[in-house]
Amino acid sequence: MNIYDVAIVGGGPAGMTAAIYTGRAMLMTVIIEKGVAGGLMALTDKLENVPGFDSIGGGELSELMLKQATKFGAGLMMADVSKVEKKGDLFLLHTDNGEVTARTVIWAAGSSPRKVGVPGEMEYIGRGVSYCAVCDAAFYRDLRVAVIGGGDSSLKEALYLTRFASEVVIIHRRNEFRAEKIIQDEVRKHPKIKLILESVVEKITGKDFVESVTVKNVKSGALSEHPVDGVFVFVGYTPHVEAVKELVTLSPTGRILLKPDGATGTPGLFAAGDVVEKLVYQVATAIGCGASSATAVEHYLAGH
Ligand SMILES: Cc1cc2nc3c(=O)[nH]c(=O)nc-3n(C[C@H](O)[C@H](O)[C@H](O)COP(=O)(O)OP(=O)(O)OC[C@H]3O[C@@H](n4cnc5c(N)ncnc54)[C@H](O)[C@@H]3O)c2cc1C
Repeated sequence: MNIYDVAIVGGGPAGMTAAIYTGRAMLMTVIIEKGVAGGLMALTDKLENVPGFDSIGGGELSELMLKQATKFGAGLMMADVSKVEKKGDLFLLHTDNGEVTARTVIWAAGSSPRKVGVPGEMEYIGRGVSYCAVCDAAFYRDLRVAVIGGGDSSLKEALYLTRFASEVVIIHRRNEFRAEKIIQDEVRKHPKIKLILESVVEKITGKDFVESVTVKNVKSGALSEHPVDGVFVFVGYTPHVEAVKELVTLSPTGRILLKPDGATGTPGLFAAGDVVEKLVYQVATAIGCGASSATAVEHYLAGH
């Protein structure tokens, strides 16, 4: 039976960076990935904010990272990890492709943006529908965008979008926002922001790209159509923590809380990337997190 020094769950930028570090440290490493190596990156047409590139294709960067990670000895196993158990000093990972045993685990399984589930949403992803203002706002310079959602992050993202867009229409199902008062005040007095409250988006329409949203007032049932060039959906993220939830402490948003040294509550279990509670969810921060978690693994194994 193989006992890996480290099993990295998730082949996104966090997991692959961790593998580069643990591979170079001569630790026997396996990356376990259930979908596409590259994670959310691989599904993103053009990545912004990646140092060294004005803009780079997500698929291209994913391939480069995988090549680099495997060059230093990390193996890639395609499997879905359903549960992680601690057995004495070892971890047993249950997957749909058999069991894996490892001395340490880096949980880098990321998160998925929640969908609103309206007609047109899936069809226009990457052609006007976005889930990340920091990534895509610059494409909407002097254009009109809609923001769906009324939480803290929706309003912050809407304010960020005003730096580029000519108009930002926030569509929110309630009459009031859940965001901090100070952010609400800023939003309400911003000249570029228009609020459509007590309303939900019924459908997103267009030709090659998004051209409008149809909105329904939840009280009167009245429908109205609003011309927009983009729709930013901020109705939350689902962090992938199911398989480790008994071994970690979760934040109110369901993400993993880390100790200052990068460890979770369970010795030998580390976490990195979007699955961790942090300030910014980007490739750059996932890479940083991956490097820290791998270094923490090295220190942990050296102490054992
Ligand atoms: C639409 C969109 C556009 C974006 N654009 C940019 C951008 O331009 N610039 C930027 O810096 N950031 C961008 N981001 C954010 C960036 O993609 C993420 O911050 C980054 O990918 C997080 O990396 P990660 O490794 O933590 O997780 P992920 O990239 O989500 O990778 C996690 C991996 O874990 C795998 N996994 C999950 N559960 C399991 C399991 N149980 N077993 C095995 N494998 C599992 C998943 O299949 C996935 O491949 C964007 C995000 C979105 C949604």
